[in-house]
Amino acid sequence: MAFHFKEDPAPKHQVLTDGTSVTRSCAWSPPGCHAVGCGVRLFVKDGELVKVEGDPDHPLTQGRLCPRCLALKEAVYHPDRIVYPMKRERADRGLDKWQRISWDEATELIVSKVNAIKEEHGAEAICVFMGTGREAVRYGFTLSSKVLKTPNNCYAQSGWSCMGPRQTAMTMMLGSAYIELDYGGGNLEVWDSPDFVAPDYVFCLGKEPLKSNPDGLWGHALIEIMKRGSKLIMVDPRMNWLATRADQVLQLRPNTDAALVLALLNVIISEDLYDHDFVDRWCYGFEELAERVKEYPPSLAAKACGIEEQAIYECARKLAYDGRHHWSLLMGVATDQNPNGCQVVQGLIALSAITGNLDVPGGTVVGVQMQFEMTGATDSMSEELRNKCIGWDT
Ligand code: SF4
Repeated sequence: MAFHFKEDPAPKHQVLTDGTSVTRSCAWSPPGCHAVGCGVRLFVKDGELVKVEGDPDHPLTQGRLCPRCLALKEAVYHPDRIVYPMKRERADRGLDKWQRISWDEATELIVSKVNAIKEEHGAEAICVFMGTGREAVRYGFTLSSKVLKTPNNCYAQSGWSCMGPRQTAMTMMLGSAYIELDYGGGNLEVWDSPDFVAPDYVFCLGKEPLKSNPDGLWGHALIEIMKRGSKLIMVDPRMNWLATRADQVLQLRPNTDAALVLALLNVIISEDLYDHDFVDRWCYGFEELAERVKEYPPSLAAKACGIEEQAIYECARKLAYDGRHHWSLLMGVATDQNPNGCQVVQGLIALSAITGNLDVPGGTVVGVQMQFEMTGATDSMSEELRNKCIGWDT
């Protein structure tokens, strides 16, 4: 695979005639960026960051950035940005009363507290909690097992507000850590290869790829894929730039996604628009699903979602299996923030599966198993420590 490296890219660092220095770099701001790593040009004058631009010489992103990097200057100089250790007295808990302390003081404070807990109660009294943050979380397991010598750690991700419901459903139904549109790593060489198949439709629910650029997908790739023929079905209460270019827009009432997905399944199954071969070979519970979705006709969903009944039939027929066309699923954080998030994703995976769109060219890529989260927690432990994990021997 080749990348589009320019023969004469700008130098990595240059100084303009007015003294502004321009540095080419590559950004990745965890959590939440895809794996491409966007090319940026940082303009610094008199020691101050004055502007951030996309780097047109970056072989993949070619000058395109999402708003987070474009707003980098605001983040860097925001008065509320925490750039030093800050301490609050116990008596001031709940109050916005902080005092700046030195790094040495902060380190000593943490060490003394940790040691006091270990001496008084043992290392097992400490649990290392990790939030989201793609690489940083890996250190948490080592910190707990090797440094603090406690068997207790918890990779909480963002809980039920981001990724948890989606990954739960993906793991339960597919054994996969993540499913996504095949965006060819953002590489033009891939998109223009005869082996690459652009989906006929991209079904995008609760996601705005150009703005959010979440990990798993470089949002601008969607534009490139649309240029190669993919049509977009946009499901979002808001009308956004991408929706104005979509083949179909379903502006649902917030949190009614489950009703829509069940109605789509209802039409596809009742009109016999599914991939019988795939269902026979790979699906379990199909009969139960078919029975259950009879309760959710488009007329019911149309009322719940606040959209035309006809629009649901139209959408279902675009997603139907016919042995030739494929569609790919894009689902965003809005699914997780839905009280029925897990069920919405279960429905979407069922829709992808029975229409024969999992792991096929032009369909939805099914990623590898969730090995890291499942095994990373105990892999770095000694046997003695592992035996202390709650539930390890059951
Ligand atoms: S996805 Fe957005 S925030 Fe992340 S590196 Fe690219 S432009 Fe920057």
